[in-house]
Amino acid sequence: MLSIIRRTAVALGISSLLLIISNTAFSETHVEGSKAMKELIPKLEKLYLHFHQYPELSFHENKTSQIISQQLKTLGFDVTDHYGGYGVVGLYKNGKGPTVMIRTDMDALPVTEETGLSYASKVTSKNSQGETIGVMHACGHDLHMTSFIGTATMLMNKKDQWHGTLIMIAQPAEEYGAGAKAMLDAGLYKDFPVPDHIIGLHDHAGLPAGKVAIAPNYIMANVDSVDITVKGISGHGAYPNKTIDPIVIASRIVLALQTIVSREISPLDPSLITVGVINGGTKRNIIGNKVLLQLTVRSYNPKVRKKLLSSIKRTAKYIAKSAGVNDKLLPDVKVYKDESGDAVFNDPKQTAKVKSFITAAIGKDNVVHAEQSMVGEDVSQYALTKEKIPLTFFWLGAVNPKTYAESIKNGTELPTLHSSKFAPDYPLAIKTGVKAMTASAIGLFNDH
Ligand SMILES: [Zn+2]
Ligand SMILES: [Zn+2]
Repeated sequence: MLSIIRRTAVALGISSLLLIISNTAFSETHVEGSKAMKELIPKLEKLYLHFHQYPELSFHENKTSQIISQQLKTLGFDVTDHYGGYGVVGLYKNGKGPTVMIRTDMDALPVTEETGLSYASKVTSKNSQGETIGVMHACGHDLHMTSFIGTATMLMNKKDQWHGTLIMIAQPAEEYGAGAKAMLDAGLYKDFPVPDHIIGLHDHAGLPAGKVAIAPNYIMANVDSVDITVKGISGHGAYPNKTIDPIVIASRIVLALQTIVSREISPLDPSLITVGVINGGTKRNIIGNKVLLQLTVRSYNPKVRKKLLSSIKRTAKYIAKSAGVNDKLLPDVKVYKDESGDAVFNDPKQTAKVKSFITAAIGKDNVVHAEQSMVGEDVSQYALTKEKIPLTFFWLGAVNPKTYAESIKNGTELPTLHSSKFAPDYPLAIKTGVKAMTASAIGLFNDH
């Protein structure tokens, strides 16, 4: 867990970004290659560079949310700030018609950027150990926000092409799976009109910029965050027989966890268990009394999800028992509900329509089928309330097409999302994101 103690970056120059978008004159009507888009893109690029250079960690999206809020206000939205933390809700009523909600996220990651780009983030923060760490938009939420503002701009300038209510939300803390829940808990569907449709996008580090990947049904996984605290009896490293060594127990648990997916779950059901943190001990000749394991557990099928969690508990308990641990010292297995999330389900009917709208906007060759992946996204939460609102969430290609072609040719791996070397082809990705999202919204507004 991170906490910002000191920010070394220069304060954000928000005022300089104001009005940069709204001054644009719009005359063309078609999204594809329109004059309006051509005028808008350089301004969006400037906005992207600003977001990229001044990223903020989850739950700290103060300045970022102010920029989003001010941009939406300038465009004529009725804006509510500080909604579920740093969440922003922009509302625009444009006559009778359906309600469409478009969502972006805003948070960055504790990653020190290593792209070598002239506009690389220099923002740093301190972690709980007091170490200085970099902050970076390594998940590309800066691309999401820029496409979001671009889409808002295009929709406001094409008001004659759609009727209904547009809700644009910018959520905090996606990387903790907490922001969507925070906005829903604040009363999103009570304080604002209940949407008929929800749309959103995420950039993709394995898809060329200029392309979109979309598919119906489940596309992203259930995520459960689990901590296992293994307990033992401490003592001298030279008298192991007088102790119960939690490091040995934890090691056996880590290995045993690997067989849950391979031996207890059907090979036809996607699932995974990753131990991302193992923490214990203070000195080489001391046997400690505690080891902390932190896991991410992923699945699609709700039954598999339940089975994974119960198998983790059983494995931890009986390995500890086999090491002679008494009932008072059994491992604590805790599932963090606040940092867990449900699989993203794309409503098939709505997604087929959105796919056709995007295809019309960016061309058939640029729309590909999205493979299922084990990443999680808390956008799922907006569709899982009692209102059961259809969601469509699509991938936006972010890799420079030349770089992508070379990686295929040479068989080299591209930096993934969350990598310190992730360097999206932002001009092309933003342009595609704005076109795809604007077309999706206009299409849905006109579909009733
Ligand atoms: Zn991420
Ligand atoms: Zn992300």
